[in-house]
Amino acid sequence: MTTVAEAVAIGNGNGHRHIVNVSGGKDSAALALYLQDQYPDLEVEYVFCDTGCELPETYQYLARLEAVLGQDIVHLNALDLIGVAKKPGRNPFDIWLNEVYGGFLPSPRARWCTRVLKIKPFERHVGDDQAFSYIGIRGDETREGYQSQKPPVISEQPNIVPVYPFKDHSLGLHDIRMILEESGLGLPSYYEWRSRSGCYFCFYQQIGEWQGLKERHPEWFERAKQYETTGFTWVDGRTLEEIAAQPRREAIPAPELAEGCAICHL
Ligand code: SF4
Repeated sequence: MTTVAEAVAIGNGNGHRHIVNVSGGKDSAALALYLQDQYPDLEVEYVFCDTGCELPETYQYLARLEAVLGQDIVHLNALDLIGVAKKPGRNPFDIWLNEVYGGFLPSPRARWCTRVLKIKPFERHVGDDQAFSYIGIRGDETREGYQSQKPPVISEQPNIVPVYPFKDHSLGLHDIRMILEESGLGLPSYYEWRSRSGCYFCFYQQIGEWQGLKERHPEWFERAKQYETTGFTWVDGRTLEEIAAQPRREAIPAPELAEGCAICHL
């Protein structure tokens, strides 16, 4: 781990790269804006690892973030890892699910999706370069494990060094909201009905969020249901058909209280 002051002092000298993985969530977006505002002379790259199964609101938010930053966000994906060409309608998740994992859906206990769709494309993008990987864990982060254990990293590769500017400067949720408001970017619109960024079928969703997906994007809900025909379910012990029939439940309104994946959901 390196502090943001140390990383900025090294700067872009000797080929050092400074990279923010934006997820489509509020914390990584605020981090991109914060770095640009605080360290305008630092050359920072912004990347997004696209699973092919993100919400339309996520792509819209990333396009707006690009406009506010005045800089492109490089979209990476995992098709390159197995030499599959990109083409319309082909998404990395489906290719890996069917051709590598034999229809075995990911879950919190077998989260192959994060490793192959998010981490590996990022590591490939960095290659052997020395890189600082900026991560939007906040100074007031309370999610289980963030305080008591080592903070999450995007990659364990020794040439990819994590940096936590919000922790270093004790910036909390209020500060992140201010950064987003003052920039004009605001929050992603999916926070109206869902507590996190990531794939539309993410298994970390709560029941109320699945129901919100059905209301907001019925076509995506139907697609998520189709994956269950392989014999796996997204939610332990229940099919999406059964969840849709349950009484409506609200999603937890505070995303910072939810369990989840720091790589996909920050
Ligand atoms: S958002 Fe969820 S389903 Fe998608 S890669 Fe991340 S953990 Fe897996």
